Amino acid sequence: MALLEIAHPRNVLGDFFVDTTCIDCDLCRQIAPDTFSDIGDQSIVYHQPETSEHEFAALKALVTCPTASIGTLSNRSAKAAVRAYPELIDDNVNFCGFASESSYGASSYLIIRPEGNVLIDSPRFATPLVKRIEKLGGVRLMFLTHRDDVADHEKWAAHFSAKRILHRDDVTRSTANVERVLTGLEAVTLAADLLAVPTPGHTRGHTVLLYRDRYLFTGDHLWWSQANDSLHASSSVCWYSWAEQTRSMERLLDYEFEWVLPGHGRRVHLSSTLMREQLAGCITRMRRPSRAAS
Ligand code: SF4
Repeated sequence: MALLEIAHPRNVLGDFFVDTTCIDCDLCRQIAPDTFSDIGDQSIVYHQPETSEHEFAALKALVTCPTASIGTLSNRSAKAAVRAYPELIDDNVNFCGFASESSYGASSYLIIRPEGNVLIDSPRFATPLVKRIEKLGGVRLMFLTHRDDVADHEKWAAHFSAKRILHRDDVTRSTANVERVLTGLEAVTLAADLLAVPTPGHTRGHTVLLYRDRYLFTGDHLWWSQANDSLHASSSVCWYSWAEQTRSMERLLDYEFEWVLPGHGRRVHLSSTLMREQLAGCITRMRRPSRAAS
């Protein structure tokens, strides 16, 4: 619960506020850009919601915030915002909201499909979200893109008897019992519509998931930079090998996709042609000696 005593001094006056426990995950700015803005290393309320639409978006941000840093003076109900998740992005692909602090507020996604639903990375194991996903058919597969964004994976897997998938090079003590371990650099067909593509770089065992040759769930390998208006990867958050990450990015040119759905950073939808151009531009920047890919 956000605390007024530690509210950020730069919030504008009004009902909504952000306190200084914010970890700058960016999700509130993505969900409610009319209310929240960035002031360097934290978010603040820069404009109080004035329409019901903006207020609902701000409440969804409150629900999603991984550190419960967003509050309201009036303690207004967020029940309707809670019920908004999972939230449809496109076709049968959904954003889960309910981010977890242990994955630094990474986004997670749910694909609803007749063959069994797929949860990509781990949201908070929050009862309202669990119940909503139960109604949507549960979780058959849980695809973990890399070691950092696994959050409450054990609870999700146990509750839904879901099979977790993670690359061997990112298995840690907390994920030692995952049901399926990927190896090597070869892409692995998980189902007719699901392809796991190892993309070492950010971490040694980072892997992305391609769904229906249209949706690429990229974890922390690749994302859209709003500031640069381009696909982006950054050596400043590369924990294993930038050279390896660059080679992994080059291998993505073998695939067609229209959506990039990351753990951190912005998602983007482009035509497959434009996406390829963007990817090629990102690779060119990654190869520069400056190691900047923005
Ligand atoms: S969602 Fe929460 S932690 Fe993330 S930037 Fe907003 S206030 Fe900060």
